[in-house]
Amino acid sequence: MPNEKVYDLRLKMVKKLVENGYIMSKHVEHAFLTIEREKFVNLAPEHAYKDVPLPIGYGQTSSAPHMVAIYLEQLELQSGLKILEIGTGSGYHLAVTACALDYLSGGEIHSIEINPFLLERAKRILSSYNFKTKISIHLGDGFYGLKEEAPFDRIYVTAALVEKPKMLYEQLKIGGILLYPYGIQGEPQLLIKAKRTQEGIKENEVIECSFVQLRRAGEEFRPS
Ligand code: SAH
Repeated sequence: MPNEKVYDLRLKMVKKLVENGYIMSKHVEHAFLTIEREKFVNLAPEHAYKDVPLPIGYGQTSSAPHMVAIYLEQLELQSGLKILEIGTGSGYHLAVTACALDYLSGGEIHSIEINPFLLERAKRILSSYNFKTKISIHLGDGFYGLKEEAPFDRIYVTAALVEKPKMLYEQLKIGGILLYPYGIQGEPQLLIKAKRTQEGIKENEVIECSFVQLRRAGEEFRPS
């Protein structure tokens, strides 16, 4: 498909996300218009730009674009932030976040992925972009966060937690924001926004959501 046609599909998706109030800021819009979802989900563009979650192998899915947009807006991005992503998956969500941060003149993102095959694949695709934002992808169990790089201004988890993320609260700077889906896979889950203040952690429910479960070491290849 010619590049202009692909751009049209991307533009159509972005217009809908704006109309429906999922995309509210310029940096988020720019990122969605730039990142080629078809590369990450390995599908023809006519499928890649549907606003639905798409399979990426190993029982995992790349979130629907409107959910990625909700994350991006709720993260309240600013220039120079140090961010931790848990669950690199295809790398799409990471690429959109990096591109949005670039628009605000860059920052630093660390991403942690438990499945080495998904990690290598995401790294390969991401290497075709030239982000200002420094990206480092780490192999490991993100349940524990990433102590050696903590503290972070922002942390977001792209797989559902069934218990409160105490370790992640601790790796958040004062004033920092943590986003995570909470609940059991297949049951109603909530996207939670936690802020770390001087007085402690304050949590709000953002929206209902549906995510695959965060896996623990040894479960990385378990089928869903
Ligand atoms: N954000 C991704 C989709 C994530 S799907 C995208 O845009 O494609 C959830 C991802 O979290 C999967 O890749 C899965 O392998 C990974 N994952 C699951 N448990 C994990 C853990 N404990 N630590 C790090 N990554 C984990």
